[in-house]
Amino acid sequence: MMYHRINNSVGEKLTGLSVDISNFEKHLLFYKNNFQILRLEEEWTSLKKTGLVITFDDGYADNIINALPLLEKYQLPATIFVTTLNIDSKDEFWWDRLVFDYSNCKESFFVPNQNNAISKSNRSYKILTDFVHALRNEDKEEWFLAFEKINNISFIHREEFRSLTNSELKFLSEHPLISIGIHTHNHYSLGTLSYEEQKKELQLSIQNLNELTTQNIKYLALPHGSYNQDTIEVMNDLNLSAVLLANNYYSSSKNKASRKIYRILMPNIKHNELRNYIKKYNFKIW
Ligand SMILES: [Zn+2]
Repeated sequence: MMYHRINNSVGEKLTGLSVDISNFEKHLLFYKNNFQILRLEEEWTSLKKTGLVITFDDGYADNIINALPLLEKYQLPATIFVTTLNIDSKDEFWWDRLVFDYSNCKESFFVPNQNNAISKSNRSYKILTDFVHALRNEDKEEWFLAFEKINNISFIHREEFRSLTNSELKFLSEHPLISIGIHTHNHYSLGTLSYEEQKKELQLSIQNLNELTTQNIKYLALPHGSYNQDTIEVMNDLNLSAVLLANNYYSSSKNKASRKIYRILMPNIKHNELRNYIKKYNFKIW
């Protein structure tokens, strides 16, 4: 299962990356009662029930503030895949900032270097997302400042969207229930990068994580689920155990053997919708 933010300031339907705290607690209870909760590092053989692994991507501070107390309450292990770019900074990820900015635009808004105003629609949001996604991080910052200026938006970094601090990450890495995984440094789509660029991304992020944790970091969650043949080569060269996709499908023993592990994005659904939501995946016991 793949989560990102566990936070009551869900407030943004556009990304679907937040689950509120009470829903998350109900999810955990449901998992505990119906599945065998596993760690990525374990052997997934001879299960008594269908197995389930809890994962978080990006490294939001709410993982320690809101999710950890509940994982402790029910004694459930989880892996947190950390993007190292914003660790110990107030900066928000570009997709959260874009949602904030877009929500604060008027019905008709401007984009940098274009004369004509654009009307809000699902399509215009998608075009903006694709455009910003493709920029290098330095260029994203410049683009945001220009976009906010022409649309009269004052963006202030929000506490509820920050990443973990160094000391929070260190604490998590020493916690018996928590495994730390790689989610690259810059959160670029690896499938768009060369072998060398991908290797640099992963090495930089591993180096940053090694400064804060003593865990042997072996798993990589792919930003945006994106990869290419070189990603697999880099994974082998860096001796990683497996990559985790974001494809909304469940894993089988075959996936574990192929070292590409499938994952399901858990939406912010309430307890009464949970059983039906999970049922549609028709998990098999293996
Ligand atoms: Zn991510």
